[in-house]
Amino acid sequence: MSDCIFCKIINGNFNTEFVYENENAVVFKDINPKADIHLLVVPRVHVESLNELDDETLLGKLMMTVKETTKKLGIKSYRTVINTGKEAGQEVFHLHIHILSGNMKG
Ligand code: 5GP
Ligand code: ZN
Repeated sequence: MSDCIFCKIINGNFNTEFVYENENAVVFKDINPKADIHLLVVPRVHVESLNELDDETLLGKLMMTVKETTKKLGIKSYRTVINTGKEAGQEVFHLHIHILSGNMKG
């Protein structure tokens, strides 16, 4: 989607460093980290949120991407979060999984 910030990041518009990527997703650092380590796993396809997801295999692929990322980076203990909807704190309407590790901030 042309006006989606995460689609722009995926397309390389901002030269964002990907700490991991595969055919399904890219992973980069959250710009406003809420923990010592705060990464975002973002599918290459634009899906607004979990509420719009109709590909039942995508979440499994994203969770495998979480596992591959944490394994690569040696992160043994972490929390995963998906915010769905504005009232739940979703700010970017392109589905993503937060990976949070270490001390939480705020
Ligand atoms: P949400 O609140 O939608 O679950 O999470 C969106 C996250 O994306 C927030 O934690 C926010 O800090 C992060 N974010 C928003 N814009 C950018 C950006 O341009 N670059 C990066 N790396 N993270 C962003
Ligand atoms: Zn998008």
